[in-house]
Amino acid sequence: MMDVAIVGAGIAGIACARRLAGAGLVPVLFDKGRGIGGRVATRRADGLQFDHGAQYVTVRGDAFAAVLDAAETREAVARWQDGSGRGRWVGTPGMSSLAKALAQGLEVRQRAEVTALRPDEGAWMLRVRDAWHRAARVVVTVPAPQVAGLLGADHPLVAPLAAVGFAPSLTLMAALSAPAPFVTRCDPDDPLSWIAQDSSKPGRPASDAVAWVAQASAAFSRRHLEDDPDDIAAAMLPLLCDRLGTAPDRAVHAAAHRWRYAHVTAPLGQPCLAAADGTLCLAGDWCLGPRVEAAWTSGTAAADTLLERMP
Ligand SMILES: Cc1cc2nc3c(=O)[nH]c(=O)nc-3n(C[C@H](O)[C@H](O)[C@H](O)COP(=O)(O)OP(=O)(O)OC[C@H]3O[C@@H](n4cnc5c(N)ncnc54)[C@H](O)[C@@H]3O)c2cc1C
Repeated sequence: MMDVAIVGAGIAGIACARRLAGAGLVPVLFDKGRGIGGRVATRRADGLQFDHGAQYVTVRGDAFAAVLDAAETREAVARWQDGSGRGRWVGTPGMSSLAKALAQGLEVRQRAEVTALRPDEGAWMLRVRDAWHRAARVVVTVPAPQVAGLLGADHPLVAPLAAVGFAPSLTLMAALSAPAPFVTRCDPDDPLSWIAQDSSKPGRPASDAVAWVAQASAAFSRRHLEDDPDDIAAAMLPLLCDRLGTAPDRAVHAAAHRWRYAHVTAPLGQPCLAAADGTLCLAGDWCLGPRVEAAWTSGTAAADTLLERMP
């Protein structure tokens, strides 16, 4: 039987696993994705790369500052001069490098989607593909709207999640053989609310083309959420080219990604949510806010809660 099974190897799950491992337990992370890091992600294609999820990381608390300082000494993060004058960190050579560095030494099972969780004589059973795995404790770090699919809509921890809000984000990854007029541009009223010159981040691969990431506004994203990704790219590319003052025929690459649960719009307002018997805990950015640091803080809090309640 596993000590602790953690569903989701995003930043919250990784933070939780690190704290538990530091306390002498052997946590096992399960993630449905091919890579780890969840929304801290990097896509590679045609010799290009794009951070299509979190764009950068900011720091408010000392604990997370120490995490990034340690990652910097391992060259997994660096500061990005994006013109805002703010302290923004990025993974190097891609955002996913941060997650990989933080997960080093942890047991992560990839392409391992947990499709059901059920209590079993004081422990938990997890279904992954056709097999059931037993764990003494479980931490679930998937986006709040996906928790009911695992625990069942009538589980007592599911009701409080109704207050949590998420907005989707459609993201365009494009490479253009045209000069770059700016590094970043943020305009909440524009259908492309965020545009970043991704290849201006430190440690990115050299290329003849400039790599751009553009995020659609919540309104645009909701309107086109179910569109085919090729259609989304075809709709967003002319908008990007217009904002850059260039023509769509300068694009050498364009692809879109759909984040159904991208940004937390209404957080739970507490670091994590634990069952009374101390064998189940829910965590994720949705507990505290739409930021990588919030996910880290929540995952750490979930681990501390389990440890406090251990017999
Ligand atoms: C487009 C975009 C831009 C963003 N920009 C920024 C930014 O600039 N700065 C910032 O601080 N934050 C940003 N964020 C938010 C930030 O990415 C998140 O707050 C943070 O990464 C959330 O981490 P998490 O671990 O809580 O969740 P996630 O990263 O969503 O991790 C959950 C994990 O669970 C896995 N999973 C889900 N269901 C299952 C299942 N059934 N079985 C197994 N695994 C499962 C997923 O594959 C995923 O890896 C952005 C997010 C998006 C989408």
